[in-house]
Amino acid sequence: MPTAARLLALFSPALLCLNLAQAQIPTPIPPTPLPAAPHTRALRLPGETQPIAPGTRRAPPVPELTLTPPMPQVRQIQYLGNGHIEVASAVLLLLPGEVAQARKLAATAAARTLLARPSLAEVDISVYNKAGYGGFGGPLPILTLSAPRARLQDVAAWAAGGPYERAWEALGSTPPNPGNTDRIADKVRERTINFFGDVNQTLSDAHTRTASRVKGGIQDGLLYGGNVLRPVAALTFDDAPHPMYEPLLLDLLRRDQIRATFFVIGRNARAYPYFVRDMVQQGHEVGNHTYHHVRLPALPLPAAITELSLTNQTLRGLTGQPVKYFRPPGGDYTPQTLDAARALGLTTVFWTDDPADFQNPGDGVLESRFDRRLHPGGIILLHDNAQETLAVFGAFLAYARKRGVTLTTVSGLLGGKPADVIGAFHQVSVDKSVPGH
Ligand SMILES: [Zn+2]
Repeated sequence: MPTAARLLALFSPALLCLNLAQAQIPTPIPPTPLPAAPHTRALRLPGETQPIAPGTRRAPPVPELTLTPPMPQVRQIQYLGNGHIEVASAVLLLLPGEVAQARKLAATAAARTLLARPSLAEVDISVYNKAGYGGFGGPLPILTLSAPRARLQDVAAWAAGGPYERAWEALGSTPPNPGNTDRIADKVRERTINFFGDVNQTLSDAHTRTASRVKGGIQDGLLYGGNVLRPVAALTFDDAPHPMYEPLLLDLLRRDQIRATFFVIGRNARAYPYFVRDMVQQGHEVGNHTYHHVRLPALPLPAAITELSLTNQTLRGLTGQPVKYFRPPGGDYTPQTLDAARALGLTTVFWTDDPADFQNPGDGVLESRFDRRLHPGGIILLHDNAQETLAVFGAFLAYARKRGVTLTTVSGLLGGKPADVIGAFHQVSVDKSVPGH
């Protein structure tokens, strides 16, 4: 769509109606009912990594690997490729008497998995207490390990008690907020932007949204889009990090020297800190996606603030950098949560282009959605654990090149200079005062 037509399209009849309504409605109507508390819903199935939303096709099954003879602690080993490398993710469930051997069991499972499938570049291990295991979105693992094939000797030394920077252990560490860490991650995926407020707040939000889209850039702490005259679009991935998809996605981005913004779930960053450090080392940007991936309008305000501040604290501890951007899970927000984000120095980032990769629409459909919706000044919404996104990422890049649109981080969209390091490994400063790593 030409730029002028696009600008006109932003002034939709619905928004014009809202403008008129602002002057004519004397008394506010009751606030929109809030959604039910998300953590009361059923847990996802153990091992399931793709939340299933209404209208969503189930992801094709991920191939599994079996060890012969089997290890009784291994619940499941899945593996996936990105066209260049293969990565496996293994889940181990331990009985209380086995927890003291967690390192050795994890290292054994890593070595045996890499032996069983020589094409694997890496295996990532997640070790859980068998009692209470609830899958990836359930209670956190007690130990995680990233084992690239080239690091197997280091993993063996770590199993014998040595240091290893690509492992994390909950044993002996203090949760950042005891009593608030057992909430279950919500299944919600970002699809629509949903504002919850009274009529005046809704009108004010609509004005801000329209102004932001027309002018581009941050308006009142909110970002709905960039400058449509600049051939740059932000590439954003929600719900990171994941122990199988993250190394695959980071590998793809590294190969094409693309920088992106990852909206990270705090609890998962805590359990897989090395992937967050990998992101920063590759020049990517790390944003706040709440600690438990919950719909904030359903929470009391203090709990919503805690969701944001805990995540900021966790990410700053891992990256040594302040967190600048926040995206609300499900796209759901209220005036209060926006205020909380502002108070924490966060700009709330929405999106303009959503190919709905989590719906598993099929590679061809996903490609054509991306092609149709990509435009200068856009913010592309993808998820870090969608199989089809991995499959068609090369095609995405080809479309972007064909249209002359450079994909970059949110800061890059706003005219900032993205980090200049790609593929190089440099030390980031790590704040040891933050527990959990
Ligand atoms: Zn999300």
